[in-house]
Amino acid sequence: MNRRFTGDELFKLRNLIPINWLIKEHLNIPSKDSEGFFRFLCPLCNEFQTATNPKTNLARCFRCETNFNPIDLVMTVRGIGFVESVKYLKTFLPGTPDSRPHGQAAGIEWNAGEYRQTDKHAG
Ligand SMILES: [Zn+2]
Repeated sequence: MNRRFTGDELFKLRNLIPINWLIKEHLNIPSKDSEGFFRFLCPLCNEFQTATNPKTNLARCFRCETNFNPIDLVMTVRGIGFVESVKYLKTFLPGTPDSRPHGQAAGIEWNAGEYRQTDKHAG
């Protein structure tokens, strides 16, 4: 059974679930902070030549040149398919009718917009 998901649902999963939080707290991928970047062990090549970008909410491995969004990461690390990964991630989204919050999920700060730079210089 391949259930389709709406673009809006997928957009939320890719953007509202902080990639660092997912890596650290849920996928238990080894990670560290280095030179101002959050680095994680690439699940494909097992190297720390990685970084995450809070603005795009993507994790990138510079060695195998792979970009992971939250859905990609779950698929790769847990070895499950797209549909299963989406279902897994949906349980972390607040306010969705059929979501059952996992224990820690309540503690997430859902402020994806906070990463915007605000240092505008007026005229
Ligand atoms: Zn890699």
